[in-house]
Amino acid sequence: MGRALPQEEGAMFLSPRTCLVCHEAKQENLKKCSGCPYATFCSAHPSSCSHDQVCSMINDKYEFQTRLSKLKLSTAAAIQAIVNSTTVHKSLKLPTSVADYLYRYAQTPVTIPEDVKIHTSIYFTKSLTLFNALQKLNYNPRLKMVVYIVAQFTPFHVSVYWEVLLHLLPKLINLKIILFEPPEDLKYTINVCEKCRSKKKTLTLEFVSTSFVEYVKSKSHTKADFVALYNYDPLQEENLFVNTSCKVVKNFDFITCPLLLTTVTEKKAMAASERLRSNLKNCEICYAGKNDFAPIKPEVDWETEGISIPNQFLMVMKPRES
Ligand SMILES: [Zn+2]
Ligand SMILES: [Zn+2]
Ligand SMILES: [Zn+2]
Repeated sequence: MGRALPQEEGAMFLSPRTCLVCHEAKQENLKKCSGCPYATFCSAHPSSCSHDQVCSMINDKYEFQTRLSKLKLSTAAAIQAIVNSTTVHKSLKLPTSVADYLYRYAQTPVTIPEDVKIHTSIYFTKSLTLFNALQKLNYNPRLKMVVYIVAQFTPFHVSVYWEVLLHLLPKLINLKIILFEPPEDLKYTINVCEKCRSKKKTLTLEFVSTSFVEYVKSKSHTKADFVALYNYDPLQEENLFVNTSCKVVKNFDFITCPLLLTTVTEKKAMAASERLRSNLKNCEICYAGKNDFAPIKPEVDWETEGISIPNQFLMVMKPRES
């Protein structure tokens, strides 16, 4: 397939062994955390308050990953099975949250273990948050929809969660997701399910290596119908991904379509809203508040060693009608 499939998780457990508090590296002075396989402490620092708060959750994640690797069912296969079981019935109320989608709406035929199902919510939060934003705008995509995903690392092998949009939006035939993810230009057509194939529906993923701003300024670019910025962090400018999103926010004049933006915390949501109000004069905020389609369980934030819920706050904007 050309693109190296990113190791789903797991890699995050392989941090170099140093004391979590003082970063002492002499192996003979170090002891592993008694609660999880991730942290190491020196004799002077037998534990740390911040780690204690997340230790058991980290251990749960670790044990889940170990269990998942032994199961015959991969995350990608679970996502595929859930997507395949998603059909729109007139009698069925549309999903109102990721949990509602997974437990009530998707009538998965194969038994997917509870924890695997919960685990997939971290992926479905992306496609379903977009679905949520479309609904908030009363936006009914026609045959074709092009979505830019800005500044978001996307494990490619599980990307089939985007297909859920082809199921929930019956009129949508061609969905193209454009991701700005250097270093190489790549294009994939995802193998959609039989139902989608019979309706000639397609799902294309395109990775663009040029920067977002360069891309939207180039003559040959594909115009977007929707732009999504997940987990935007206005408080952290130096981060490469964040920088990209800041540029998007500052260059929204190039985009003449609706935009969704999510943040991890309320504080970041407030800062984002302030920035948007001053930078996006030509656009109105249609929704700002809690995102009903946040993942079911919090994630371990490996940078801060805390826990956080991605996509927790949502803002939906559209260009002002002139
Ligand atoms: Zn130490
Ligand atoms: Zn621990
Ligand atoms: Zn399908």
